[in-house]
Amino acid sequence: MKTLSHLQKILLTASVAGALTLTACSSDEKSATEAKKTSAGEKEIVVYSSRKEHLIKPFFEKYTQETGVEVKFITDKEAPLISRLKAEGKRSPADIFMTVDAGNLWLAKKEGVLQPIQSDLLTASIPENLRDPDNQWFGLTVRARTIVYSTERVKNGELVSYEGLADQSWKGRLCLRTSKKVYNQSLVAMLIGRYGEEKAQQIVEGWVANLASDPFSNDTKVMNAIVAGQCDAGIVNTYYFGRLQKENPQLPLALFWPDQGEAGKGVHVNISGAGITKHSDNVVGALKLLEWLASEQAQQMYAGENMEYPANPKVQPTPEVAAWGEFRADDMNLSKAGELQPAAVQLMDKAGYN
Ligand code: FE
Repeated sequence: MKTLSHLQKILLTASVAGALTLTACSSDEKSATEAKKTSAGEKEIVVYSSRKEHLIKPFFEKYTQETGVEVKFITDKEAPLISRLKAEGKRSPADIFMTVDAGNLWLAKKEGVLQPIQSDLLTASIPENLRDPDNQWFGLTVRARTIVYSTERVKNGELVSYEGLADQSWKGRLCLRTSKKVYNQSLVAMLIGRYGEEKAQQIVEGWVANLASDPFSNDTKVMNAIVAGQCDAGIVNTYYFGRLQKENPQLPLALFWPDQGEAGKGVHVNISGAGITKHSDNVVGALKLLEWLASEQAQQMYAGENMEYPANPKVQPTPEVAAWGEFRADDMNLSKAGELQPAAVQLMDKAGYN
Protein backbone atom coordinates (compact mmCIF):
# COMPACT_ATOMS: atom_id res chain seq x y z
CA MET A 1 0.00 0.00 0.00
CA LYS A 2 1.23 3.46 -0.84
CA THR A 3 1.75 5.82 2.05
CA LEU A 4 2.69 9.03 0.26
CA SER A 5 0.07 11.21 -1.33
CA HIS A 6 0.44 11.99 -4.98
CA LEU A 7 1.47 15.56 -4.24
CA GLN A 8 4.03 14.44 -1.67
CA LYS A 9 5.47 12.11 -4.26
CA ILE A 10 5.71 14.89 -6.81
CA LEU A 11 7.36 17.25 -4.38
CA LEU A 12 9.75 14.52 -3.32
CA THR A 13 10.66 13.87 -6.92
CA ALA A 14 10.97 17.54 -7.69
CA SER A 15 13.38 18.09 -4.83
CA VAL A 16 15.41 15.00 -5.73
CA ALA A 17 15.50 16.10 -9.33
CA GLY A 18 17.30 19.37 -8.67
CA ALA A 19 17.89 20.82 -12.09
CA LEU A 20 14.73 19.34 -13.55
CA THR A 21 11.61 21.43 -13.56
CA LEU A 22 8.30 19.82 -12.95
CA THR A 23 6.26 21.91 -15.30
CA ALA A 24 2.89 23.07 -14.08
CA CYS A 25 3.65 21.63 -10.65
CA SER A 26 1.01 22.27 -8.02
CA SER A 27 1.55 25.43 -6.09
CA ASP A 28 2.68 25.03 -2.51
CA GLU A 29 -0.51 26.55 -1.11
CA LYS A 30 -2.62 23.78 -2.52
CA SER A 31 -3.47 21.09 -0.07
CA ALA A 32 -2.61 17.54 -1.00
CA THR A 33 -6.26 16.69 -1.47
CA GLU A 34 -6.84 19.62 -3.78
CA ALA A 35 -3.86 18.71 -5.88
CA LYS A 36 -4.79 15.07 -6.20
CA LYS A 37 -8.26 15.70 -7.50
CA THR A 38 -9.01 18.06 -10.31
CA SER A 39 -12.18 20.00 -10.89
CA ALA A 40 -13.69 16.98 -12.60
CA GLY A 41 -12.95 14.97 -9.50
CA GLU A 42 -10.37 12.91 -11.35
CA LYS A 43 -6.76 12.49 -10.41
CA GLU A 44 -4.09 14.41 -12.28
CA ILE A 45 -1.79 12.57 -14.66
CA VAL A 46 1.99 12.86 -14.53
CA VAL A 47 3.98 12.39 -17.74
CA TYR A 48 7.74 11.92 -18.08
CA SER A 49 8.60 12.94 -21.62
CA SER A 50 11.69 13.05 -23.77
CA ARG A 51 9.62 14.87 -26.35
CA LYS A 52 10.15 18.58 -26.09
CA GLU A 53 7.72 20.78 -24.20
CA HIS A 54 6.45 22.68 -27.25
CA LEU A 55 5.49 19.38 -28.92
CA ILE A 56 3.48 17.98 -26.00
CA LYS A 57 2.13 20.92 -24.03
CA PRO A 58 -0.62 21.88 -26.53
CA PHE A 59 -2.02 18.34 -26.25
CA PHE A 60 -2.11 18.30 -22.49
CA GLU A 61 -3.68 21.76 -22.37
CA LYS A 62 -6.36 20.65 -24.80
CA TYR A 63 -6.99 17.50 -22.78
CA THR A 64 -7.37 19.51 -19.57
CA GLN A 65 -9.70 21.92 -21.35
CA GLU A 66 -11.91 19.07 -22.51
CA THR A 67 -11.88 16.82 -19.47
CA GLY A 68 -10.90 19.00 -16.53
CA VAL A 69 -8.13 16.52 -15.78
CA GLU A 70 -4.77 18.13 -15.13
CA VAL A 71 -1.66 16.80 -16.80
CA LYS A 72 1.74 17.56 -15.33
CA PHE A 73 4.95 16.74 -17.06
CA ILE A 74 8.70 16.90 -16.97
CA THR A 75 10.95 16.72 -20.00
CA ASP A 76 14.47 15.33 -20.18
CA LYS A 77 16.48 12.99 -22.41
CA GLU A 78 15.19 9.41 -22.51
CA ALA A 79 18.12 7.75 -20.71
CA PRO A 80 17.93 9.91 -17.55
CA LEU A 81 14.13 9.54 -17.53
CA ILE A 82 14.36 5.75 -17.66
CA SER A 83 17.05 5.79 -14.93
CA ARG A 84 14.86 8.05 -12.88
CA LEU A 85 11.83 5.78 -13.22
CA LYS A 86 13.98 2.87 -12.10
CA ALA A 87 15.46 4.77 -9.17
CA GLU A 88 12.10 6.08 -8.01
CA GLY A 89 10.47 2.65 -8.23
CA LYS A 90 7.17 2.54 -6.37
CA ARG A 91 7.59 6.15 -5.22
CA SER A 92 7.54 7.44 -8.78
CA PRO A 93 4.85 10.03 -9.45
CA ALA A 94 4.92 9.18 -13.15
CA ASP A 95 1.94 7.64 -14.90
CA ILE A 96 3.10 7.85 -18.51
CA PHE A 97 6.50 7.64 -20.18
CA MET A 98 6.66 9.29 -23.58
CA THR A 99 9.60 9.25 -25.98
CA VAL A 100 10.74 8.98 -29.58
CA ASP A 101 11.96 5.88 -31.39
CA ALA A 102 10.82 2.33 -30.84
CA GLY A 103 14.38 1.58 -29.70
CA ASN A 104 13.87 3.80 -26.64
CA LEU A 105 10.40 2.39 -25.91
CA TRP A 106 11.76 -1.12 -26.24
CA LEU A 107 14.52 -0.23 -23.77
CA ALA A 108 12.01 1.19 -21.29
CA LYS A 109 10.07 -2.07 -21.48
CA LYS A 110 13.25 -4.10 -21.04
CA GLU A 111 14.24 -2.02 -18.03
CA GLY A 112 10.88 -2.89 -16.49
CA VAL A 113 9.52 0.65 -16.12
CA LEU A 114 6.36 0.07 -18.17
CA GLN A 115 3.30 -2.15 -17.75
CA PRO A 116 1.03 -3.92 -20.22
CA ILE A 117 -2.33 -2.28 -20.87
CA GLN A 118 -5.47 -3.75 -22.37
CA SER A 119 -7.35 -1.28 -24.49
CA ASP A 120 -9.55 -2.19 -27.44
CA LEU A 121 -9.52 1.47 -28.44
CA LEU A 122 -5.74 1.62 -28.62
CA THR A 123 -5.38 -1.64 -30.50
CA ALA A 124 -8.06 -0.50 -32.94
CA SER A 125 -6.48 2.94 -33.47
CA ILE A 126 -2.79 2.02 -33.72
CA PRO A 127 -1.61 -0.50 -36.36
CA GLU A 128 -0.04 -3.66 -35.02
CA ASN A 129 3.50 -3.00 -36.26
CA LEU A 130 3.54 0.36 -34.44
CA ARG A 131 2.89 -1.06 -30.98
CA ASP A 132 4.50 -3.46 -28.55
CA PRO A 133 3.27 -7.06 -29.00
CA ASP A 134 2.73 -7.14 -25.20
CA ASN A 135 0.92 -3.78 -25.20
CA GLN A 136 3.52 -2.00 -23.08
CA TRP A 137 3.93 0.87 -25.55
CA PHE A 138 2.01 2.38 -28.44
CA GLY A 139 3.11 4.55 -31.35
CA LEU A 140 1.45 7.96 -31.49
CA THR A 141 3.19 9.52 -34.48
CA VAL A 142 5.11 8.07 -37.40
CA ARG A 143 8.22 9.40 -39.09
CA ALA A 144 10.00 7.88 -42.03
CA ARG A 145 13.80 7.64 -42.09
CA THR A 146 14.43 7.96 -45.76
CA ILE A 147 16.84 9.19 -48.42
CA VAL A 148 17.25 12.92 -49.08
CA TYR A 149 19.12 14.03 -52.19
CA SER A 150 20.32 17.00 -54.18
CA THR A 151 17.89 17.80 -56.96
CA GLU A 152 20.82 19.47 -58.77
CA ARG A 153 23.28 16.58 -58.81
CA VAL A 154 21.39 13.31 -58.47
CA LYS A 155 19.98 11.92 -61.69
CA ASN A 156 16.82 9.93 -62.19
CA GLY A 157 17.39 6.25 -61.54
CA GLU A 158 20.47 6.74 -59.39
CA LEU A 159 18.53 6.08 -56.21
CA VAL A 160 16.80 2.77 -55.59
CA SER A 161 17.27 1.48 -52.06
CA TYR A 162 19.13 1.90 -48.77
CA GLU A 163 21.39 -0.87 -50.03
CA GLY A 164 22.02 1.07 -53.23
CA LEU A 165 23.79 3.83 -51.26
CA ALA A 166 26.52 1.25 -50.59
CA ASP A 167 27.26 1.01 -54.31
CA GLN A 168 30.60 2.29 -55.60
CA SER A 169 28.81 4.86 -57.75
CA TRP A 170 28.14 6.76 -54.50
CA LYS A 171 31.81 7.00 -53.50
CA GLY A 172 32.45 10.37 -51.86
CA ARG A 173 28.83 11.42 -52.32
CA LEU A 174 27.14 10.25 -49.12
CA CYS A 175 26.57 12.10 -45.84
CA LEU A 176 25.28 10.37 -42.71
CA ARG A 177 24.42 11.28 -39.16
CA THR A 178 26.41 9.64 -36.37
CA SER A 179 25.77 5.98 -35.54
CA LYS A 180 25.37 7.02 -31.88
CA LYS A 181 21.89 8.30 -32.60
CA VAL A 182 19.14 5.79 -31.87
CA TYR A 183 17.46 6.63 -35.20
CA ASN A 184 20.38 5.07 -37.09
CA GLN A 185 20.58 2.17 -34.66
CA SER A 186 16.94 1.38 -35.41
CA LEU A 187 17.55 1.80 -39.14
CA VAL A 188 20.44 -0.68 -39.10
CA ALA A 189 18.42 -3.01 -36.83
CA MET A 190 15.77 -2.97 -39.54
CA LEU A 191 18.43 -3.90 -42.13
CA ILE A 192 19.54 -6.81 -39.93
CA GLY A 193 15.93 -7.95 -39.58
CA ARG A 194 15.51 -7.71 -43.32
CA TYR A 195 18.76 -9.18 -44.64
CA GLY A 196 20.56 -10.88 -41.73
CA GLU A 197 23.75 -9.63 -40.11
CA GLU A 198 26.21 -10.52 -42.83
CA LYS A 199 24.50 -8.61 -45.60
CA ALA A 200 23.55 -5.74 -43.29
CA GLN A 201 27.21 -5.37 -42.39
CA GLN A 202 28.21 -5.27 -46.06
CA ILE A 203 25.70 -2.51 -46.65
CA VAL A 204 26.91 -0.43 -43.71
CA GLU A 205 30.54 -0.95 -44.73
CA GLY A 206 29.58 0.25 -48.21
CA TRP A 207 27.99 3.38 -46.74
CA VAL A 208 31.11 4.10 -44.68
CA ALA A 209 33.31 3.67 -47.75
CA ASN A 210 31.14 6.18 -49.62
CA LEU A 211 31.13 8.92 -46.96
CA ALA A 212 32.10 12.38 -48.13
CA SER A 213 32.77 13.51 -44.58
CA ASP A 214 32.79 12.31 -40.97
CA PRO A 215 29.26 11.59 -39.74
CA PHE A 216 27.30 14.64 -38.59
CA SER A 217 25.71 15.25 -35.20
CA ASN A 218 22.20 15.75 -36.58
CA ASP A 219 19.96 15.33 -39.62
CA THR A 220 19.79 19.05 -40.43
CA LYS A 221 23.58 19.20 -40.76
CA VAL A 222 23.41 16.28 -43.20
CA MET A 223 20.96 18.24 -45.37
CA ASN A 224 22.97 21.46 -45.10
CA ALA A 225 26.05 19.55 -46.29
CA ILE A 226 24.11 18.36 -49.34
CA VAL A 227 22.92 21.90 -50.09
CA ALA A 228 26.52 23.13 -49.72
CA GLY A 229 27.68 20.59 -52.29
CA GLN A 230 29.72 18.51 -49.85
CA CYS A 231 27.74 15.39 -50.75
CA ASP A 232 24.77 14.40 -52.89
CA ALA A 233 22.55 12.27 -50.65
CA GLY A 234 21.92 11.28 -47.05
CA ILE A 235 19.41 9.56 -44.77
CA VAL A 236 17.14 11.68 -42.55
CA ASN A 237 13.85 11.71 -40.67
CA THR A 238 11.11 13.27 -42.75
CA TYR A 239 10.09 16.00 -40.28
CA TYR A 240 13.62 17.49 -40.27
CA PHE A 241 13.33 17.81 -44.03
CA GLY A 242 9.90 19.37 -43.54
CA ARG A 243 11.25 21.98 -41.14
CA LEU A 244 14.05 22.97 -43.51
CA GLN A 245 11.66 23.09 -46.43
CA LYS A 246 9.36 25.37 -44.44
CA GLU A 247 12.25 27.79 -43.82
CA ASN A 248 13.32 27.67 -47.45
CA PRO A 249 10.76 26.41 -49.98
CA GLN A 250 13.39 26.72 -52.76
CA LEU A 251 15.62 24.15 -51.10
CA PRO A 252 17.40 22.12 -53.84
CA LEU A 253 16.62 18.91 -51.96
CA ALA A 254 13.98 16.23 -52.26
CA LEU A 255 12.97 13.08 -50.45
CA PHE A 256 13.27 9.71 -52.12
CA TRP A 257 11.29 6.64 -51.03
CA PRO A 258 13.59 3.63 -51.29
CA ASP A 259 12.80 -0.07 -51.54
CA GLN A 260 9.46 0.37 -53.28
CA GLY A 261 8.20 -1.90 -56.05
CA GLU A 262 7.64 -5.64 -56.10
CA ALA A 263 10.80 -6.83 -54.40
CA GLY A 264 11.25 -3.84 -52.12
CA LYS A 265 10.57 -4.10 -48.41
CA GLY A 266 9.54 -0.49 -48.00
CA VAL A 267 10.72 2.63 -46.24
CA HIS A 268 11.96 2.40 -42.65
CA VAL A 269 9.46 4.11 -40.40
CA ASN A 270 9.71 4.77 -36.71
CA ILE A 271 7.46 6.28 -34.09
CA SER A 272 7.15 8.54 -31.16
CA GLY A 273 5.05 6.80 -28.57
CA ALA A 274 4.17 6.21 -24.97
CA GLY A 275 3.35 3.62 -22.34
CA ILE A 276 1.98 3.52 -18.82
CA THR A 277 4.62 3.35 -16.13
CA LYS A 278 4.94 0.24 -14.01
CA HIS A 279 4.15 2.02 -10.75
CA SER A 280 1.50 4.44 -11.92
CA ASP A 281 -1.16 4.96 -9.26
CA ASN A 282 -3.53 6.33 -11.87
CA VAL A 283 -3.67 3.68 -14.57
CA VAL A 284 -7.28 4.50 -15.41
CA GLY A 285 -6.54 8.19 -15.94
CA ALA A 286 -3.32 7.47 -17.84
CA LEU A 287 -5.10 5.06 -20.13
CA LYS A 288 -7.82 7.61 -20.89
CA LEU A 289 -5.16 10.14 -21.87
CA LEU A 290 -3.35 7.63 -24.10
CA GLU A 291 -6.63 6.70 -25.78
CA TRP A 292 -7.34 10.37 -26.35
CA LEU A 293 -3.87 10.89 -27.86
CA ALA A 294 -4.62 8.06 -30.32
CA SER A 295 -8.06 9.47 -31.16
CA GLU A 296 -8.79 11.16 -34.47
CA GLN A 297 -9.02 14.56 -32.83
CA ALA A 298 -5.59 14.43 -31.17
CA GLN A 299 -4.04 12.67 -34.16
CA GLN A 300 -5.18 15.58 -36.31
CA MET A 301 -3.37 17.92 -33.93
CA TYR A 302 -0.27 15.72 -34.05
CA ALA A 303 -0.23 15.86 -37.83
CA GLY A 304 -0.05 19.65 -37.73
CA GLU A 305 2.37 19.96 -34.85
CA ASN A 306 5.67 18.45 -36.03
CA MET A 307 5.16 17.45 -39.68
CA GLU A 308 4.93 13.80 -38.71
CA TYR A 309 2.51 11.18 -39.99
CA PRO A 310 -0.42 10.32 -37.74
CA ALA A 311 -0.14 6.80 -36.29
CA ASN A 312 -3.92 6.38 -36.56
CA PRO A 313 -4.52 5.45 -40.22
CA LYS A 314 -7.92 7.15 -40.18
CA VAL A 315 -6.18 10.53 -40.04
CA GLN A 316 -4.47 12.09 -43.05
CA PRO A 317 -1.12 13.89 -42.86
CA THR A 318 -1.08 17.64 -43.50
CA PRO A 319 -1.00 18.81 -47.17
CA GLU A 320 2.72 19.77 -46.85
CA VAL A 321 3.59 16.28 -45.67
CA ALA A 322 1.27 14.60 -48.18
CA ALA A 323 3.08 16.56 -50.93
CA TRP A 324 6.19 14.44 -50.36
CA GLY A 325 4.30 11.62 -52.00
CA GLU A 326 2.96 8.26 -50.97
CA PHE A 327 5.21 5.37 -50.10
CA ARG A 328 5.05 1.83 -48.86
CA ALA A 329 6.46 1.48 -45.36
CA ASP A 330 8.34 -1.50 -43.98
CA ASP A 331 5.78 -3.42 -41.93
CA MET A 332 8.29 -5.12 -39.64
CA ASN A 333 7.11 -4.79 -36.04
CA LEU A 334 9.07 -1.96 -34.48
CA SER A 335 9.79 -3.96 -31.34
CA LYS A 336 12.19 -5.85 -33.59
CA ALA A 337 14.19 -2.63 -34.04
CA GLY A 338 14.68 -2.61 -30.29
CA GLU A 339 15.50 -6.27 -30.02
CA LEU A 340 18.15 -6.01 -32.71
CA GLN A 341 19.54 -2.71 -31.46
CA PRO A 342 22.52 -4.18 -29.54
CA ALA A 343 23.46 -6.18 -32.66
CA ALA A 344 23.11 -3.02 -34.77
CA VAL A 345 25.41 -1.03 -32.47
CA GLN A 346 28.01 -3.77 -32.62
CA LEU A 347 27.73 -4.09 -36.37
CA MET A 348 28.16 -0.35 -36.98
CA ASP A 349 31.17 -0.35 -34.72
CA LYS A 350 32.73 -3.25 -36.66
CA ALA A 351 31.98 -1.49 -39.94
CA GLY A 352 33.83 1.63 -38.75
CA TYR A 353 30.67 3.76 -38.74
CA ASN A 354 31.23 6.36 -36.04
FE1 FE B 1 14.16 13.86 -33.92
